[in-house]
Amino acid sequence: MRVLIVEDEARLARNIAQVLREEVSFAVDISNDGEDGQHMALTNPYDLIILDLMLPRVNGMDILRRLRAADNPAPVLVLTARDAPADMVAGLNAGGDDYLTKPFDMSVLVARCRALVRRSHGKPSAVVEAGPLKIDTVSHLVVYEDQSILLPALEYRLLEYLAMRQGAVVSKTELIEHLYGFEAENFSNVIEVYISSLRKRFDPDHRLIRTVRGQGYILGEAPA
Ligand code: CA
Repeated sequence: MRVLIVEDEARLARNIAQVLREEVSFAVDISNDGEDGQHMALTNPYDLIILDLMLPRVNGMDILRRLRAADNPAPVLVLTARDAPADMVAGLNAGGDDYLTKPFDMSVLVARCRALVRRSHGKPSAVVEAGPLKIDTVSHLVVYEDQSILLPALEYRLLEYLAMRQGAVVSKTELIEHLYGFEAENFSNVIEVYISSLRKRFDPDHRLIRTVRGQGYILGEAPA
């Protein structure tokens, strides 16, 4: 999953990014400026946008309205010091999905981010099942049949994304766009390495993570 934080308090943005990278295994991009943040939000397929309201150049409410006017589907968590009920109502009515006021508790922010992402993928439970796999999106523990597997962070990130898109063909381009932020190098070859490693762990026959030639990968057992 890839998240954009639009927040002009640079230290706060960095702290949130660090927690989301380390604890949630999200790829994170940061913008400290409304105009730049709006451009990033409109031109990249984010799985979540954390949006401050009072920003230099373009304010958060305008960004939110433009995103929704462009039919951008990314869930938006509004994160702001504005705590008046009228502000919350305006933020939600403009297309925000959740609203958290500063100061906030980091564990609450993390839980809300997780909930927004899984809900936007139509997975209301924190444990996502895919055939014989159970993926706990909070602990990141993966259970295959009765065997627990703790995956390296990027393999987990890849498997979780495929599980959220379960049953759909996911192209390599889509994987790269959703698994890495701007800070990453071009990792296109690495996707194949991770897929191969996941298959060695629990899918030696490629029945669960199938390759669709020329198109990408699909998670889910083939119909018998
Ligand atoms: Ca601000």
